[in-house]
Amino acid sequence: MLSIRQRLTLWYTLVLMVMFVTFAGVIYVGGAWQLRQAADRELLDTARQLTETLLRGEDPVAVDVAYRFLTLDGQVVRSSGLPARHVPIAAAAVEAARNGKTWSEIVAMPARPLGPQPGGGVLRRPIPIQLRLLTLPLGNPTQYILQVGTITTDLQRLRNLLFTALLLGLVLGLPAAAAGGWWLAGRALRPVKAITATARRIEARNLAERLPQPPQDDELGQLAATLNGLLDRLQAAFQRERRFTADISHDLRTPLALIKSNIGVALNRPRTAAELQTTLTQVEGQIDRMTGLVEATLFLARSDTEQLAQEFAALNLSELLTDLYETTAPYASEELGQTLCNEIAAGLWVMGDRDQLTRLFLNLVDNAMRYTPAGGTIRLAGRMQGQHAVVEVEDNGAGIAPADLPRVFDRFYRADEARTGGHHAHYGLGLSIAQAIAQAHGGEITVRSIPGRGSCFTVSLPICLTR
Ligand code: ADP
Repeated sequence: MLSIRQRLTLWYTLVLMVMFVTFAGVIYVGGAWQLRQAADRELLDTARQLTETLLRGEDPVAVDVAYRFLTLDGQVVRSSGLPARHVPIAAAAVEAARNGKTWSEIVAMPARPLGPQPGGGVLRRPIPIQLRLLTLPLGNPTQYILQVGTITTDLQRLRNLLFTALLLGLVLGLPAAAAGGWWLAGRALRPVKAITATARRIEARNLAERLPQPPQDDELGQLAATLNGLLDRLQAAFQRERRFTADISHDLRTPLALIKSNIGVALNRPRTAAELQTTLTQVEGQIDRMTGLVEATLFLARSDTEQLAQEFAALNLSELLTDLYETTAPYASEELGQTLCNEIAAGLWVMGDRDQLTRLFLNLVDNAMRYTPAGGTIRLAGRMQGQHAVVEVEDNGAGIAPADLPRVFDRFYRADEARTGGHHAHYGLGLSIAQAIAQAHGGEITVRSIPGRGSCFTVSLPICLTR
């Protein structure tokens, strides 16, 4: 398998070679055509002058043009003295002229014999000379045939020049360009090597390590930045996961220790039935606490794997909130001395799960009641706002310190309580669960709070248009 560097260089060189050859080809074909056209035009002019001279019966003075005057059956009547007169007469040309047509062709001049030449020199190599030959009919109907020819040295020179240039380009230019391409590709791909080497080293133990960031903000720079962003998120997720496990272990250890100590005390000496019952009630309380924790953890685990949204149906949120209000309001006023206000608009419909949404709002109302002293007021409001149903749970209780505010939705985060916890089932998971439910419903939950003045939790859920 070729490396990217090799493939890049190969492609680059191949494309360059094709371009070289095509360029030379186009120049040659175009140039040759132009030269041939010019030669034909010149030959035609000369032929016209020659005809006039010959018809006048004079001997024409031809300089660098050879001519031949033929009868219709191809007999030479008169010709110039140039070696061109040895060129054989093509039957097709005579036939065309006989039919009144002009015929043009390129013919090879017969090579001069090697050895001593008439001028005195010695010819070692036959020089291939080409002749552009024009055959014209004379008279109407045709009585004679005139052939004029000129040596096409320009064409040959152009071909030789292009061939030399192409050869030089291919032999010298192409390897140089390939070497340059190889160097450039290597330079451009160097950061990839560094990124690969570092990425190979990174594992769960050293997730803090980051890929080297290339100085340029090109594709590789963006790739490194994106992968580093991914590592940031992975590291944060790993840390969250570790903290989560540590928190669960911690929160399970406390009730387990209490259960053990309760049982230890009970077994210490013989107990009466009443004493044993008290111990068992305490143990049951601890087991309830652990069950609540395990259940909440399982719920969050399900929300992480996006299993919460599986059984959603259209439901009347106004009704759900009113039910919640009616069950909690008497408890708030009678047990806690608080006032729960109902500001729920009718006809709020959302797609969702009744149990999950009840849990979400119950968590918020429960928190509001817990962090609001007797005599306080809790407002449960629901209204339409654009395409969303907006529910607010507002209290005028203790409020949340600005430092705690961004963290209240974190798992196991409790702003006000020592980690040892009390006997009640509050592990700092209530708001995490509320947030997971809101998100599973395509909504969000936000909070604003002023310490000492109260807090307001706002849940926004997309309304359901079809029922
Ligand atoms: P918990 O299960 O301990 O109630 P939550 O996730 O529900 O945990 O809440 C996290 C923390 O946010 C609480 O420990 C409390 O400090 C703070 N908090 C939540 N709701 C309120 C509120 N209405 N007023 C003041 N503080 C609140």
